[in-house]
Amino acid sequence: MNDDNLFVCDSHFADNDLIRFINEEGETGRSCCICNENRITVNSNNRDLQESVRGLIRYFYPEYVYNEHFGGVDFHQIFNDSNPILVKPESVTLNDDSPFWYVVDDLLDGLDSEHIIPLYAGHIEEMRDLFAKSLRDNGYVNWNESKKLLLENNYTEVLPQFHILFHALLHRTMTTVPAGKVYSRARIGFDVQKERGKLSQAIIEKKIPYREKNILAPPPNITPSGRANRERISYYYLASTIATAIAEVRPHPGHYVSIANFELTENIKVANLSSFGIKDYIGSEEDFDNYVALRAFAYEFEFPITPDAKNRYLFSQMLSDIIKMSGLDGIMFNSSIGKGVNIVVFDKSKVKFKQNSRRLYFIKKHSYECSRVTNVYDGFVETYTEQFGPTVRK
Ligand SMILES: [Zn+2]
Repeated sequence: MNDDNLFVCDSHFADNDLIRFINEEGETGRSCCICNENRITVNSNNRDLQESVRGLIRYFYPEYVYNEHFGGVDFHQIFNDSNPILVKPESVTLNDDSPFWYVVDDLLDGLDSEHIIPLYAGHIEEMRDLFAKSLRDNGYVNWNESKKLLLENNYTEVLPQFHILFHALLHRTMTTVPAGKVYSRARIGFDVQKERGKLSQAIIEKKIPYREKNILAPPPNITPSGRANRERISYYYLASTIATAIAEVRPHPGHYVSIANFELTENIKVANLSSFGIKDYIGSEEDFDNYVALRAFAYEFEFPITPDAKNRYLFSQMLSDIIKMSGLDGIMFNSSIGKGVNIVVFDKSKVKFKQNSRRLYFIKKHSYECSRVTNVYDGFVETYTEQFGPTVRK
């Protein structure tokens, strides 16, 4: 049923870039063929959407996963499991006559038809060739080499050449964040306010959120090295939601966490590494390499770093330096811990404390999200092997 009238909403997509695609390219006034909600939808035969989905398949999967000639499975089976591209409604099963599967067929558009992003390496001199690695695992060659250089040299020596290599690409992610936009900031701890009791003369100590000066960005002389800043360079780290701000300071159960809100005093231009507008990169295979590069950059900011591995900041700090040298005001990236986004603002005068926004939270318990490590493809291979047993190629 590949007719032209299937429209799909963003809730059936898992990747941030596909969600952004639907919201930027879609229209209102139609109901989604999968969930019947009246939301922003896009035709499932939209050429750019098809190309973006193909791009993400190449980004996440090596060919042997989906090419049956190499022991792979078909895309219905891939999208039947939890995967980083689509979200299958819980009620839908593999062999259902569900609109979800019609949408999948539309998105893949017959697989073999002419497209910019190839899913199959094809043949070289009669031999069947293979995309043996996903684009994600292949990485971005320039960046992989640069990281090696960075480990072997003082950053000041390599910064100029890295700036030349990467600043134009980072500039493509530029987004304006409007004045007045409000973000949150958290700090573990609290202030104490002493009050005289009403009925007795005893002094009562009350826990209150940190006072303003204790929750502003710290002065440089006490600023430790962070994801975007070197030691003794103080920037504003803010989060899009209170929950994200709290998660970012990694409190333990039993901790009190002070929260305050801050607003931007003017429009700022940031490098947006939280999503990239994938459709701007699917015009050619070469340009799709740039998309892969940007996701590698984003990974440096998103990767959860344990407190004992702070030298991992070396790479994100380098990118931060390049972004700042390019004249941008900050960086936006997905939180590695919470669901929201973080924003770093270089110039602290562009951020203002919001009066009466201080709150104190008590951490009752943690929740953990784990994936068992089986292979480089994050939980994918695990579900794959459990379902299909020994046909998996190593
Ligand atoms: Zn829907």
